[in-house]
Amino acid sequence: MDNVTSAYLNYTQSGTFVTDGKVVNFTNLAFNGTDSDYPHALEDSMNQFLHNWTDILYYGNAVLGYWGLVMVFGAICNWLPLIFSSCRPAGPVPNWFRKNVILPAAIGKKRMQNYKLFQVIEFYMPSRLESIILLGFCVVITIVLTINMSYVQSDSLIFTNYQAHLRYLANRTGIISTMMLPLVILFSGRNNILQYFTRWNHSVFIMFHRYIARMMVTFVLIHAISFTIALGPNYNAIMKDPFMIWGTVATVAGMIIFFQGMLYFRRRWYEVFLAMHILMAVLFIAGTWRHVVKLGYVWYVYAATGVWILDRLIRIVRLVSFGFPGADVTLMSNETLKVVIKKPAHWQPTPGGHVFIHFLRPSCFWQSHPFTCATSPQSEDHIVLYCKVKGGVTHGLYQYLMTLPGKTAKIKVGVEGPYGETSGAKKSESAVFIAGGNGIPGMYAEAVDLATKSTFESRRSIKLYWIIREYRSLYWFFEELQSLRRLDVETTVFVTQPNNEQDIDGLKTLLVTNRVEEVLEKDIKDNTSEITFEDDFTDLKNKIAFHLSRVSFVDGRPNIGELV
Ligand SMILES: Cc1cc2nc3c(=O)[nH]c(=O)nc-3n(C[C@H](O)[C@H](O)[C@H](O)COP(=O)(O)OP(=O)(O)OC[C@H]3O[C@@H](n4cnc5c(N)ncnc54)[C@H](O)[C@@H]3O)c2cc1C
Repeated sequence: MDNVTSAYLNYTQSGTFVTDGKVVNFTNLAFNGTDSDYPHALEDSMNQFLHNWTDILYYGNAVLGYWGLVMVFGAICNWLPLIFSSCRPAGPVPNWFRKNVILPAAIGKKRMQNYKLFQVIEFYMPSRLESIILLGFCVVITIVLTINMSYVQSDSLIFTNYQAHLRYLANRTGIISTMMLPLVILFSGRNNILQYFTRWNHSVFIMFHRYIARMMVTFVLIHAISFTIALGPNYNAIMKDPFMIWGTVATVAGMIIFFQGMLYFRRRWYEVFLAMHILMAVLFIAGTWRHVVKLGYVWYVYAATGVWILDRLIRIVRLVSFGFPGADVTLMSNETLKVVIKKPAHWQPTPGGHVFIHFLRPSCFWQSHPFTCATSPQSEDHIVLYCKVKGGVTHGLYQYLMTLPGKTAKIKVGVEGPYGETSGAKKSESAVFIAGGNGIPGMYAEAVDLATKSTFESRRSIKLYWIIREYRSLYWFFEELQSLRRLDVETTVFVTQPNNEQDIDGLKTLLVTNRVEEVLEKDIKDNTSEITFEDDFTDLKNKIAFHLSRVSFVDGRPNIGELV
């Protein structure tokens, strides 16, 4: 490349045309000196090659520009209705758009649930709108890979047609992949400023992060393969150069991320995935850095590294500023961990938002897991998290608590957050919140926030629907449901397996302890009907209905369409 560049410079500075009548010595070139068009053709071919090189900057910017436009569009659509009430989408057309484009899965009915192909290929289905955006990305990628790829005849003096195309492709994929790197890192961060700009939540950015990163690694692979072929017999000699070795390190690291980041692995071995992902990403960035440092695109690597370091720093500051209090962790109904944490005075949870929590035990202190948090109904100074027992850290805590009296323990925790945004429901006349299982804390927090801030003039209809499998789940959310009796929130609980009595003892005990009687003393006095508590399941349901008199219970599945 250096030879071509210096030859081109030499040519532009001191070259003369044959037609100028000066004598030119062509003896060193494999060229038929009788062709007087040769110098022009040579100029064209060099221009083609060098413009292909320099224009890649524009092509890369087109890719970044596409995402910029998508985000500006997203920001306008999400901010305008919040700022100007007249811009709130209402009526049949926006509703149709929401129902048929924004919300549903691109294909099939399930979103955020894994689809399976050939046993190991698992994936989440993006929404239709997200799919359209990703399709647009593919169109832009196709354009930047095909535009201005034509071969100029005299290139045969430098390369053959085949060689020229290999080099164009190699240069393009190499440079554009480097330019995509900051975007990939920025989209993956928890403290991505673009979340505030667009009001998209982290999971949307993570989904785009995955697709852009896959495209980036595919580009890196094409870059590596096409250069390997183009180098031909020089391959072995050039591969000894450190910049090529680092390029290979980046390529291998990228390929490892490509495979180990598959949903199949993420779902089963999340922590292994995460550790490998971070290690390989460091190698990918370091390899890219050393590979491009002399080629002029290292600023994109600096930008990516800067974004990553900033995100990590903000995470540490958030963690430290919360402090490391002892949390009361209790296993409830053998299915959920209730975590009550005293918060610092300056720290306020975001209704519907979440935190990342570290349980500071030797077996898991390095892991941070996201859980929705809400202010405790018992104390404004505490936040409460409800964590469903799954197979990793939550299962470790479950096993630990099972060995303790009362299934409860004080555990030091680190809390990073709050993250996430409150939904735009506060601007609507009516709001319907629907939650399944452990998804209730976020919906509850938003409904409570909305009802608390609701004035007589702004009075709106707020409905909260909670779908649970068994009645036992009421146990861990009982206090919150009780606290709703003071608020204007129409609450309905659907129980899909209403006759399942497994692990119901906690709820039974709660219903007969003095604590609940005390809390509900006023309600009981106000209630004129006589309730007898016997020990069968039907009576238990009666008792639940009595204590949670402001909550409606429906046995069976809801029809979501009807609810909305
Ligand atoms: C924004 C957000 C809010 C959430 N709020 C709640 C909540 O209020 N209550 C609740 O019960 N669950 C909530 N979850 C899910 C919860 O984070 C996972 O169930 C939890 O991390 C599982 O921990 P584990 O080690 O026991 O799980 P594992 O059995 O190891 O994994 C179970 C599943 O959780 C995923 N997972 C594991 N670790 C993480 C992690 N660090 N980050 C993201 N996903 C992970 C895995 O991919 C796997 O699919 C929330 C998730 C997100 C993204």
